[in-house]
Amino acid sequence: MAELSICNSNKLEGKVAIITGGASGIGECTARLFADQGVRMIVIADIQDELGQQVANSIGLQRCSYVHCDVADEDQVKALVESTVRDHGRLDIMFSNAGIITGSDQTVIDLDLSAFDRLFAVNVRGMAACVKQAARAMVEGGVRGSIVCTGSVAASQGGKRRTDYHMSKHAVLGLVRSASVQLGVHGIRVNCVSPYGLATPATCQLYGGVSMEDVEKLYEPQTSLKGSVLRARHVADAVLFLACSESAMVTGHDLVVDGGYLLTSNHLQVTNIQLPS
Ligand code: NAD
Repeated sequence: MAELSICNSNKLEGKVAIITGGASGIGECTARLFADQGVRMIVIADIQDELGQQVANSIGLQRCSYVHCDVADEDQVKALVESTVRDHGRLDIMFSNAGIITGSDQTVIDLDLSAFDRLFAVNVRGMAACVKQAARAMVEGGVRGSIVCTGSVAASQGGKRRTDYHMSKHAVLGLVRSASVQLGVHGIRVNCVSPYGLATPATCQLYGGVSMEDVEKLYEPQTSLKGSVLRARHVADAVLFLACSESAMVTGHDLVVDGGYLLTSNHLQVTNIQLPS
């Protein structure tokens, strides 16, 4: 996998990072990449305690710790950020990644607002709490930090279904853009990484517990880039770029990691339109 990396040296040397949703999928992969890039400490925050602790143990407890944190509860997010600053002196990077992927077929006409509230509590409220608490700690500590949120290509498209999920990822983009405008005065950058579909435990479960290979086969035909399959490592590389100084003048940006999916799907929509004769 080394050929995928954009940063081959210690791009995060001395940095302290929090990764929410770091027990699994994109978050776990990013934690491992950060560890390879000389980070001083990664704090993995998740609700899957056993898995999160296993990831921290395998990275090495001198460089990675696990903290239980339900991002839907702002008090827990506040405690997470405070304990990180107390134990490690500062917070340089917040990768706010925890999210739920729903498989609901609901259209706006049959929107289940209870399910909507549950999804928004994590994908939107949780994301906002993480950005807020991280920004407060960075401002108070005088840290010119980097905040990266996980969006999705769903933030750039309307959905024929999964209305709540599409709405939640649009909200993440609004959060990132507003926060980047407001926090620029403190030298804090806020960006978004937006993947297309890729195989993670969440998407395997979404399709009924199928294998990672089956999920990849499902998504692969929709990208224009061929000969390569979108994997968590590609997203982690984009997060690393946004977290490290190589992106020093990048803020308020939505870095889409989709193998050309969005342009291809828009292209298909345009060419499918029948012009009146
Ligand atoms: P995943 O399920 O493998 O990882 C998500 C992690 O978030 C899990 O460890 C889960 O326990 C944790 N989590 C869920 N709710 C939480 C909460 N309330 N508090 C703290 N942690 C919580 O899924 P993934 O595919 O790696 O998804 C990560 C992010 O990427 C999500 O925001 C998702 O919307 C986004 N995303 C994923 C894909 C994809 O195809 N996999 C595509 C676009 C965007």
